[in-house]
Amino acid sequence: MSCPRIEVDLAKIRRNTQTLVSRLGPRGISVTGVTKAVCGHPAVARAMLEGGAVGLADARITNVQRLRAAGLTDPITLIRTPMLSQADQVVQSCEVSYNTETLVISALASAAIRNGAVHGIVLMVEMGDQRDGILPENLAGIVQQVMHMPGVALKGIGANFACLSGLAPTTLQMSNFCDLANEIEHRCGPILNVVSGGSSANLPWALGGHATGRVNDLRLGEAILLGIEPVSGDRIEGMHTDAFTLVAEVIETGAKSTPSATALVNPTLARRRIAQASGVSKRSIVAMGHQDTDILGLAMPFGSTLIGATSDHLVIGTPGTPPTLGSEVRFQMNYNALMHAMAAPDIEVALVGDPPTPPAQHTQGKVGHLALV
Ligand SMILES: *Cc1c(COP(=O)(O)O)cnc(C)c1O
Repeated sequence: MSCPRIEVDLAKIRRNTQTLVSRLGPRGISVTGVTKAVCGHPAVARAMLEGGAVGLADARITNVQRLRAAGLTDPITLIRTPMLSQADQVVQSCEVSYNTETLVISALASAAIRNGAVHGIVLMVEMGDQRDGILPENLAGIVQQVMHMPGVALKGIGANFACLSGLAPTTLQMSNFCDLANEIEHRCGPILNVVSGGSSANLPWALGGHATGRVNDLRLGEAILLGIEPVSGDRIEGMHTDAFTLVAEVIETGAKSTPSATALVNPTLARRRIAQASGVSKRSIVAMGHQDTDILGLAMPFGSTLIGATSDHLVIGTPGTPPTLGSEVRFQMNYNALMHAMAAPDIEVALVGDPPTPPAQHTQGKVGHLALV
């Protein structure tokens, strides 16, 4: 296997999905698996579906097209409001998209009619995160407009929390969101199939003791992939946090003369608190850098410290015997590091741990290819 690479344990992703599905199911909440952090990687998406996710969601049409090209036929929702310029692509590859702009919805309606399709619309409501969303007082008017537009079908409403603000949703915000769903149906009839309550940041709310009301779906990325609740950064009980491992190779090693003071007084490093106050004598250089991942989002192997990084080099210090030249160093990643590493062209994605049965058309004579997508 080549370096650098990301080893993806599909069995852990499948089990993480199963765990969340089984905890949320009794509360009437389904799981939509969000694939944007893995750039729509088809095998990861399949592991989510096998774990019980009812559908997939991604923010970028290119990722959705990658899933379709791999033969995935399950429902996919575009969870970033579509670009006007991509209306045709959106209706061709997604069953549903999240929307906040009536102009975009009419463009989707025209595109759907042109393509002989009916495109599903979920209206995003602004409930306090202050990123995207329709103001609650404008929702009923837009619902009416969408209901009368040929080419599109209103599927439901959704909300975002903790995306821009970083603040976890409060019980009050969630009950306001549920009230809004009831109010819309009171005015317009029973039209909301989907009431999508939010992301991994909503798990403490959804799994807490109180009623979850009208919310019947959550869009989960980080919790499934990393087993982490994003607002607190805490591990979710019973979940795997090591489904992804970044592996890179040591290209220089051994004892070094203590670096001179000037070498360490790099203002950028000092600001980021990476530079060590005293020289670390056993330094190793790993062939990976800022171009590959968010270095500050890496957990160093046990006992090692991060000394610094440049675009293509990562310098680590080890207290005892340094790793040998050519050996591999393994890092766990946070969400940012994962997202960047999955998008880095030089990093191979290596599937380990019980890959799912591949679709029939790809099986013949391509086993090696399947293991390393
Ligand atoms: C990314 C995203 C999610 C998933 O967020 P996680 O924190 O990874 O669970 C859900 N909804 C929207 C709109 C998103 O953009």
